[in-house]
Amino acid sequence: MNIHEHQAKAVLKSFGAPVAEGVAIFSADEAAKAADQLPGPLWVVKSQIHAGGRGKGKFKELGPDAKGGVRLAFTKDDVVAHAKEMLGNTLVTHQTGPDGKQVNRLYIEDGADIETELYLSLLVDRATSHVAFVVSTEGGMDIEDVAHSTPEKIQTFDVNPDDGVTPEVAGKIADALNLKDAAHEDMLSLAGILYKAFCEKDMSMLEVNPLIVMKDGHLRVLDAKVSFDGNALFRHDDIMALRDTTEEDDKEIEASKYDLAYVALDGNIGCMVNGAGLAMATMDIIKLYGAEPANFLDVGGGATKEKVTAAFKIITADPNVKGILVNIFGGIMRCDVIAEGVLAAVKEVGLSVPLVVRLEGTNVELGKKIINESDLDVISADDLDDAAQKIVAAVKGA
Ligand code: ADP
Ligand code: MG
Repeated sequence: MNIHEHQAKAVLKSFGAPVAEGVAIFSADEAAKAADQLPGPLWVVKSQIHAGGRGKGKFKELGPDAKGGVRLAFTKDDVVAHAKEMLGNTLVTHQTGPDGKQVNRLYIEDGADIETELYLSLLVDRATSHVAFVVSTEGGMDIEDVAHSTPEKIQTFDVNPDDGVTPEVAGKIADALNLKDAAHEDMLSLAGILYKAFCEKDMSMLEVNPLIVMKDGHLRVLDAKVSFDGNALFRHDDIMALRDTTEEDDKEIEASKYDLAYVALDGNIGCMVNGAGLAMATMDIIKLYGAEPANFLDVGGGATKEKVTAAFKIITADPNVKGILVNIFGGIMRCDVIAEGVLAAVKEVGLSVPLVVRLEGTNVELGKKIINESDLDVISADDLDDAAQKIVAAVKGA
């Protein structure tokens, strides 16, 4: 789960990280009041959407020459003018995709006197199963470009979970960022603060870009992007309360109600599969035969008929889906339950695209019988290879 920048900063502040004062607002009237609450003489008006690259982003409704999604304001009137121009409009950044995201909330923040912009993030390094700090002196700009053209400017520091962030690790991070004096001192505590926040709140990613050294020599967290591990949210009511479903894909929200592991993708073949590994393999083999999956969907090991029906409805509700591949290996899951779920869903929502079903495992004969005896126009398949070729052919023929 993702949260907004201002929420992430509030979380980090509660652990003692240095962040600027700011006020989140939803209307231009509130913008004027927010500006009054901050000292000036510089304010920053920041679009709150669940995507990065806002500064360099463009508003769809405003011309190409209009300013981006993060704007400096030198008077209170400027704050209000920017708020009026930004609220309700659609911001397109390299992370939003071409459709962009509507800006419904802004963060009015105290402007910082920036000396240098640095990059710092924490993530779980799957190779070591440890949390790692990833840092670079090349902050503020697109870190993806730095990683691509000058990868040597990005350094990674592993944190041993038994020791936590030792003074030695924090010192190495400070040195890698060329920090001196007060900023160096600040990093010795900030590294531990960020690590503590990351672990205690079960974050999966924490990105501070930029982390800045201010003209007064101290560090400040100027941007914060945080994702949380969805499997651990049950133990963080405070974080759950920060969820903004207007930022999420409708289909993914619906899927989360039924506890389905679902991720919307750009292709046109809808997939209903049980088990994450089989779902990945199914996506791979669709690509192998020249098409693209419309989603990742794992209905889980012991799905009920209701769950299967919900999953099927989510897939068919996607206008991009031009064909559906149901690929089930019945272990704990019984093939007849899947078959009944598919039938129930089709009865409810209808079926206007080709459907290929491949069943194998527990109660497979019963499952096939249920499907074959229905009046459903199903293309049956014997194995995964056969199934993938059939659905790709059906979609390409259509
Ligand atoms: P994004 O990464 O989505 O573009 P940022 O929060 O990183 O958004 O802001 C983009 C740039 O705007 C920063 O690199 C920084 O130069 C400037 N900026 C952001 N917040 C402030 C602030 N409070 N004071 C001064 N400059 C800021
Ligand atoms: Mg940023």
